[in-house]
Amino acid sequence: MNTLSTINNKIEKKLNSNITCSEENGAVKLEGEVKSWDEVVIAGQIAAKSKYRGVINDITVKGLDLPAFTKPHIVDKAIEGKKPDVMIIGGGIIGSAIARALSKWNIDILLVEKESDVAMHQSSRNDGMVHPGVNPHSGTLKAKYNVKGNEMFKQLAKELNVPFRRIGTYVLFDSFVIKEIGSAYLLSKAKKNGVKGVRRVSIKEIKKAEPHINDNIAGGIYMPTTGVCPPYEMTVALAENAVINGAVVSLNTAVLDIKKYKDNITEVVTNRGSVYPKVVINAAGVFSDKIAEMAGDRFFTIHPRKGEIALLDKNKGNLLDSVTSIVSTKLLKGNTKGGGLVKTAEGNILVGPSAYEQPYKEDYSTNRKIMNEVLDKNLPYVKGLNKGDVITYLSGTRAATYKEDFIIEKSQKVSNLIYVAGIQSPGYASSPAIAEEIERITIETLKKEMKVIKKVNFIKQRKGIPNLKELSKDERAELIQKRKEYGQIICRCEEVSKGEILDAIHSPIPALTIDAIKRRTRAGMGRCQGGFCSPLVADIIKQETGKELIDITKKGGDSYLLYKATK
Ligand SMILES: Cc1cc2nc3c(=O)[nH]c(=O)nc-3n(C[C@H](O)[C@H](O)[C@H](O)COP(=O)(O)OP(=O)(O)OC[C@H]3O[C@@H](n4cnc5c(N)ncnc54)[C@H](O)[C@@H]3O)c2cc1C
Repeated sequence: MNTLSTINNKIEKKLNSNITCSEENGAVKLEGEVKSWDEVVIAGQIAAKSKYRGVINDITVKGLDLPAFTKPHIVDKAIEGKKPDVMIIGGGIIGSAIARALSKWNIDILLVEKESDVAMHQSSRNDGMVHPGVNPHSGTLKAKYNVKGNEMFKQLAKELNVPFRRIGTYVLFDSFVIKEIGSAYLLSKAKKNGVKGVRRVSIKEIKKAEPHINDNIAGGIYMPTTGVCPPYEMTVALAENAVINGAVVSLNTAVLDIKKYKDNITEVVTNRGSVYPKVVINAAGVFSDKIAEMAGDRFFTIHPRKGEIALLDKNKGNLLDSVTSIVSTKLLKGNTKGGGLVKTAEGNILVGPSAYEQPYKEDYSTNRKIMNEVLDKNLPYVKGLNKGDVITYLSGTRAATYKEDFIIEKSQKVSNLIYVAGIQSPGYASSPAIAEEIERITIETLKKEMKVIKKVNFIKQRKGIPNLKELSKDERAELIQKRKEYGQIICRCEEVSKGEILDAIHSPIPALTIDAIKRRTRAGMGRCQGGFCSPLVADIIKQETGKELIDITKKGGDSYLLYKATK
């Protein structure tokens, strides 16, 4: 085991900087100042190779001030005095899946999310891939929950009425040497991780399934269990289903402080009042380390690893019907899958994501140079794709810890705190299995304090909003008979009707911003990216809520659509 002085020497030798290493809460704590963010990350990675349970990286960069997390504007007493049995911090896929899993029990659940909707960070800024589970290092929590989550996804999507397709991955090798090394490596990992059906495929077989794949490949590996499912839709569906089963979701609600008596959380302070929960679940994504700090229980630091994705026009969707991934030596050694081409459940092709370290947790700008590298790497592998097909770019930041594995456990120090932290990729694919484990830990913890029994009337099905475009002519006509607004198209690119938008506004978690409606209906996701329909959607929100147009936002906070009235 590396001692603190060994870690210290290694870091100082590598960076030529004065870094202090100490032990805190079973983790290595790093302090000092360096010249760049890359050096901060390198120091953390060196420390992570030790047997300490985590790395607290407090190293700063000369001249770099990092912003605090974005907070809601609202300050009121909406949840003051609430005493939920369980308080979940974070409304991403993880918090929402946990809320739904726990809503099977007769307990009071409060989920707080600092943004104006669920799924506004990692959980809507990813590829929506339900990875098969080959890539995570064997023996990690990532490998365990990914494989199990993948198996659970189809049934979950069916219950919640979210589109899911098991489309498989073709890993393509562009040289015979890489093919031999890569195939042996992936087949052995698949075996160790328990992923079924992974096998070698010939060029002929690949071309039969995917006729537009470039001729310039040496062969591949097929992973049949890869699935795709829209991540924002799944997150909304889980949260809605939890609400239908009695959970409360409080949006625009940020946890600002945590108060304890001895080793027990007694009060959680938010901008909407103080809450007094029996159990707290930390599912705060890139800010899960901040929540740990508030609870006086630091043992890890999140270093946001950015990923950028390009979305291609649906009219090129017919050129691919699976996930393809190009293998390089870097991919086999690195922490991420290096990106590829993904046919989404909705029919578009996604390109990416990239993966690089940078200090900002909520900076979703995209970088032209990196995006070009991603496109140049992937597009040539499918004949007929080119950069002119890109309709938009997006980015997200993965919640990576220096140990690079998930943290799914009860706090060792705070008796009523549970961690679901460091949930970077493949966190989406793993989410159903993670939720099941957190359900088990939470119920076990609660049972020490109260009687907990399963609900007899748990509603596992969710109907959701009808997707008119997918219905037959007769089914559409029947709906239009019931509500004429289903016959009025608002988003022309994605063929979304006014009726669907009204459904979103009046759903269990009301969609009151342009992006919240987009996540639920796809209005604004097509070629024109909302150029035509955004004003119409804003007007419908105005009519339904009585809000003034000037107060309607794209995504909450101060993202107002209009600056001021002119007439
Ligand atoms: C570019 C990219 C591509 C990816 N692709 C895939 C993929 O294809 N497949 C896959 O399996 N995984 C993928 N991932 C990983 C996956 O997106 C994440 O693992 C998953 O979304 C994590 O969900 P979460 O709920 O933990 O985090 P989040 O979705 O980030 O949710 C955390 C929530 O906590 C809230 N919060 C934070 N602090 C507070 C506070 N103080 N008070 C109240 N609320 C707070 C935040 O606002 C946020 O909404 C990808 C990630 C990225 C960035």
